[in-house]
Amino acid sequence: MDNTQHLPEADSRPKRPSLTCILPAFNEAENLRHLIPELSQYLQKFSDEIELLVVDDGSQDDTAALVSALTHEYPVTLLQLSRNFGKEAALSAGIDHADGDVVLLMDSDGQHPLAVVDQFFHHWHQGWEMVYGVREDRSDESHAKRHLTNLFYKILSRSAEIDIHPDAGDFRLLDRKVVQALRQLPERSRMMKGLYAWVGFPSKAVTFQVAPRMGGSTNFRLRHLSSLALTGFTSFSSAPLRIWMLIGAGVSVLSVLYAFIIVLRTLIFGSDVPGWPTIAAGIAFLGGIQLFSVGILGEYIARIFSEVKARPLYLVGRQVSFRDRAETRDN
Ligand code: UDP
Ligand code: MG
Repeated sequence: MDNTQHLPEADSRPKRPSLTCILPAFNEAENLRHLIPELSQYLQKFSDEIELLVVDDGSQDDTAALVSALTHEYPVTLLQLSRNFGKEAALSAGIDHADGDVVLLMDSDGQHPLAVVDQFFHHWHQGWEMVYGVREDRSDESHAKRHLTNLFYKILSRSAEIDIHPDAGDFRLLDRKVVQALRQLPERSRMMKGLYAWVGFPSKAVTFQVAPRMGGSTNFRLRHLSSLALTGFTSFSSAPLRIWMLIGAGVSVLSVLYAFIIVLRTLIFGSDVPGWPTIAAGIAFLGGIQLFSVGILGEYIARIFSEVKARPLYLVGRQVSFRDRAETRDN
C-alpha cells in the first residue's frame, strides 16, 4: 500500500469530518440488529458526528420497525421507500439525503468488513476524493456468474467511454464533492458503478476480502444482474448502436459481390438450379440481423422513454431520524 502519496486536497481535509453511512436494506432486519450497534461504535474512530442512514428498500420483514426503534439509541435515520425500488435507487435515495463531509456506502448484510474502512479514511485524509473497495477474489460466487461478469466488463470497457473496475462495487467512501456530483446525474436507468466512474475525481482502490453474509440470502438473481448489465451497456456505450452500421455495410458489400458472381456464373454456365436456396439463406441471414438490430434500437428507445417520463427514481414513504428524537426531547 502506498502510504506516502499526498495530494494537495489533503491540507483542507478536516481531522474529524462528519460522516454519513448509507446502508441500503432489503429484508435485512436480522443483520442490521447486529450491524448498527457495531457500526455506530466502530465509526467513532473517524468522526464525532455520525449518521447511519438506513434506506429501507420496501422490505417485507420488520427492517423498518427495527431501525425506527434503534433511532432512540443510536445515531440512526430511517429512510423508508414506498416500495422496493432496487439497490441502485436505494443508494441514490441515500446519496440525495446524506449531508456528511464524507459518505460511506456499505451493504447491510455484513459482507463489507469494517477494518477496510480504516484504509478508506487513510486515503481520504491523503486527499483522494473517492476510495473504493475492490474484492480480492470472487470465489464466493458461482462460476457462471464470475465468467459472465468478467465478459461483461471486458466488453464494456472496450466499448464505453468510461473505465469501470470489474471487481469494484458499491463499498466506497465518497467526499462531499463526489456526492454533489452524483446528485446532478438525473438518469433513471442507473448503474451506480458506471456513474461513480463517470463523475471521475481522483479515486483510490483498496482490495478487500468479501465476508460471508451474516444472515439471509442474496437478493440478486441472474435475471436481475443481466438487466443491470444491459442498463450498464445502454447507459454508457453507444457502440451497440453503431456496430450495426459497420455490419450492415459489410453484409451489403458481400451481397453485391455475391450477386456479381451469380450473374457471371449464369452468363457463363447458364442457369442450372433456380436459385431459391441462396435467396432463402440471404433472407434468413438479413432477417436475423435486422431483428437483432431493431431489438437493440428498442432497448435504447425504451430507456429514452423511461427518461422522458421523468418519474422520480424512488419515493420516500417515511423518514424517522434520531435528530428528530433529540429535538422532541429538548423541547
Ligand atoms: N438491496 C436493496 N434493494 C434490493 C436488493 C438489495 O437495498 O432490491 C440491498 C441489500 O439489503 C444489501 C445490498 O443491497 O444491503 C446488497 O444486496 P445483496 O447482499 O443481496 O447482494 P450481493 O451482496 O449478493 O451482491
Ligand atoms: Mg450481500
